[in-house]
Amino acid sequence: MLKKKLLITFSISLFLGAFYSCNQIVGSTTTANAVETPDQKPEIEEPVQQDTLYLMDKLDSLNRNLIVFPAVDSLNKIEPKQAKRNLRDSIYRELNKKDKHIYLTFDDGPLIGSRAIDSIATAKDTKLSAFLVAKHANMSKRLKNDFERYSKNPLVECYNHSYTHANNRFHAFYSNPELAVADFERCEEALGLKQKIVRMPGRNIWLFDDVRRVDLTSGSQTADLLGANGYRIYGWDVEWKIHGLSGNPVQSVNEIYTRIRTMLGNKSTLKPNNIVLLMHDDMFQNKKGQQLLSGLIDSLKQHKDYHFEFISTYPHKY
Ligand SMILES: [Zn+2]
Repeated sequence: MLKKKLLITFSISLFLGAFYSCNQIVGSTTTANAVETPDQKPEIEEPVQQDTLYLMDKLDSLNRNLIVFPAVDSLNKIEPKQAKRNLRDSIYRELNKKDKHIYLTFDDGPLIGSRAIDSIATAKDTKLSAFLVAKHANMSKRLKNDFERYSKNPLVECYNHSYTHANNRFHAFYSNPELAVADFERCEEALGLKQKIVRMPGRNIWLFDDVRRVDLTSGSQTADLLGANGYRIYGWDVEWKIHGLSGNPVQSVNEIYTRIRTMLGNKSTLKPNNIVLLMHDDMFQNKKGQQLLSGLIDSLKQHKDYHFEFISTYPHKY
C-alpha cells in the first residue's frame, strides 16, 4: 500500500519534460564515449526520438490521467535508459489492464458469403463492419437482398468501399482524385449510407482525426480529398486470408487468433488496445470457411476483456 502511495500521477507536460531531458543526457553520453574511448565499440543506442514519439503516440490514445508514473524522485535516481524502460513498462501494464476492442471488418460485399456473415453476426451476437461495393448490390436480386439483410441487421454497420471498386485498376482510379471521390459519393447515394466512413479499394490508408497514414502514395490525393469532404478513412492492422472457393485458410484460426493476441500484447496496432481485422465476404462462401469464422469469434470471446465494436466507434479511448 505504502509502495502504491509512492507512485504519483503527474501532468503530462512534467512527464514529457523529464523524458526529453533524459534523451539529452543519453545523447551527450554517447558523444563523450566516442571521443574518450575510440577503441571501444560505440554503445548501440535505441532510436531515442522514435521511441519518444512512439510512447507519446501511445499516451495520446489514452486518458493520460489514468496512467500512474513512478515518482519524479525515483526517476532521477535510475539510469535514463532504465527510466525510459520503466516508463514504457508502466504504460503497458496500465494498457494491459484495460478493455481491448476488436473490429471485424468485411470488404467487397454484397457477395456470395455475405448472407452467411449476416447469420453469424446474429448467431454469435457480435458486431461486424461491412465495407460495401454498391455495384455488387445491383448485380443480382439475391445480392440486393443480401445488402438489405445487412442494412436491417442491428449487429452490422454498412460503410463505403466505392461504387465500382476501381474496377480493380487501382492506380488508374486514384490518378484522378475528383473522379475517384465521385465514385465514393455514388456508392453512398446508391446504398443510402448514413455515415461518411470509407475504406479505399486496394489501399491500406487511414485518415481520421489527426491520423494520416498512407501505404501507397497513388491513393493519397484521393484520401485527402475525401478527408476534406468530411469522410473518415480506415485501413486495417491485420488481414485474414481464406481461399473463397475451397474454404482453405491461408492462415489457420489459431494463427490469426494468436496474431491478434500478440499484436494487442506488444502494442503494434495503429492504436493500442484497438485492432482492426480485414476479411472479405467471398471468403465465407462455403461451410468450411463459415465454421472458421465462427471458430475465430468463439476463440476471441473467451477473453472477457475483448469487445467487438463497429468501426464507427474507432478508436476506443479511456
Ligand atoms: Zn476491396
